[in-house]
Amino acid sequence: MSLAGLLPQPPYPWFTAVWEGFARQVEQDRLPHALLLVGQTGIGTLELARAMAQYLLCAAPRPGRSCGQCRACLLIQADSHPDLHWVGPEDGAQSIKIGQIREMTDFTNKTAQQGGRKLVVLSPAETMNINAANALLKSLEEPSGDCVYLLVTEQPAFLMATIRSRCSRVQIRTPDFADALQWLERNRVTDAENLLQAAGGRPLRVMDWLANDLWGQREQLRKELQSLLDGTSNFLECAKGVSAYGSVWIVEQLQIWIAEAVRMSALTRGSDDTLVGHLLTLPTQRLLRYYDLLGAKKRLLLSTANPNPQLLLEEIMMDLKELGRKSS
Ligand SMILES: [Zn+2]
Repeated sequence: MSLAGLLPQPPYPWFTAVWEGFARQVEQDRLPHALLLVGQTGIGTLELARAMAQYLLCAAPRPGRSCGQCRACLLIQADSHPDLHWVGPEDGAQSIKIGQIREMTDFTNKTAQQGGRKLVVLSPAETMNINAANALLKSLEEPSGDCVYLLVTEQPAFLMATIRSRCSRVQIRTPDFADALQWLERNRVTDAENLLQAAGGRPLRVMDWLANDLWGQREQLRKELQSLLDGTSNFLECAKGVSAYGSVWIVEQLQIWIAEAVRMSALTRGSDDTLVGHLLTLPTQRLLRYYDLLGAKKRLLLSTANPNPQLLLEEIMMDLKELGRKSS
């Protein structure tokens, strides 16, 4: 039988080692009932979870891969398998709420419709509020035999320790730059090296940019930051100018530019990028402090503390202005 038309498994080549470990556990019937997939966003971890679910639900799996042709495989590819339940923040909410975990519990308590396993994919797991997390913990403590939980997170430290300890942790490495670049080039992405650099080495983030025209948005953000550092705008104007963009996205962009400046400074090289070039004139220690500060802001934005994003953005721009002003 031809294998053409099958989804590649693992879905991306950089998951090969993780996939082989997972497939081995399944084949030897020693897969834990809950996996915690820990990896950066923008590298395809959710697609990995989907492929794992497909392999576990496939009616005719082959060694190391699902068949891609059975009813279960087709239903998963059509996003409508009744025994696969997705949990994530709904309707623009930042967090996963207890009602969603109750719905999930109703699902796990039922018998699988296709007679096999049941799968829950919960992502991003760190966005569960405390009530949701406690409810999930109960389900993890009393697992029903045929249900497998795949929890996906970028920030495992924000999960309750009791949840972490109930899951088997699978660490997913960000692909090597060269591998990611090769993959982008194979997918006919032009200017792939610059894009990948700008995306902090995360190939799926590049694809996301291209699909949603975020590249233009990034150039706009760069202009606003440049004006702020040049002194042609103040921090309030700058925060207002970029307020339509996602705050987490802005923080991540800034981190990428700062990291690039720190890297270039360590190599004692200049940069063709005017914004990075400007940052390069600042003391590295101060850049690193700002980088950490951005990390703290990002954690706050992703937390369930419900911060005011606009206020946070103004603080970020004010700190950037300060960073650019002082010289030592
Ligand atoms: Zn199948």
